[in-house]
Amino acid sequence: DTALDLIAEVPDFPEPGVLFRDLTPVFGDAAAFAAVVDALAGTLDPTTELLAAIEARGFLLAAAVGYARGLGVTLIRKPGKLPSVDGRIDYALEYGTATLELPAGTVPAGSRVAVIDDVLATGGTAAATCALLGEVGAEVTGVSVVLELAGLGGRERLPAVRVHALRVR
Ligand code: IMP
Repeated sequence: DTALDLIAEVPDFPEPGVLFRDLTPVFGDAAAFAAVVDALAGTLDPTTELLAAIEARGFLLAAAVGYARGLGVTLIRKPGKLPSVDGRIDYALEYGTATLELPAGTVPAGSRVAVIDDVLATGGTAAATCALLGEVGAEVTGVSVVLELAGLGGRERLPAVRVHALRVR
């Protein structure tokens, strides 16, 4: 999977001691981008009816996967971006908290939704997204990411969800 070899490792970003994985080179390479989108599409549970994309790189991936699979996308957003929301969740970061919001009217109760993002690290973001979807009565069919950073406990924070990663590091 040469596509994933384009993932760059950036030391000390966004703060000292953190090794940031930069997927920008993957998105910028036509063949790599197509390979990653196809592989992500291949991880979807066949019963999936809708994609939930996590801001911001999840938007780009889910848009392409949704187009490829004939599925719509809802955008799980950082606070203050949406005029009307069906739910909001606060969750803990290593330092401080973050908030995610679900656009009003985008996820029917009982719908089967797959979550898409670029990187799974501690799992806090994906777990919060799954909780938000659960609050409106959706069924999460899986969480699909390009890269899972092993050892940060992400998978363990999603015990009830099938987690698909194209690469685990
Ligand atoms: P978590 O909540 O700790 O799992 O962090 C996952 C969220 O932070 C995702 O939305 C990722 O886009 C972002 N993230 C965390 N670490 C990285 C990284 O090394 N590269 C790119 N995004 C990251």
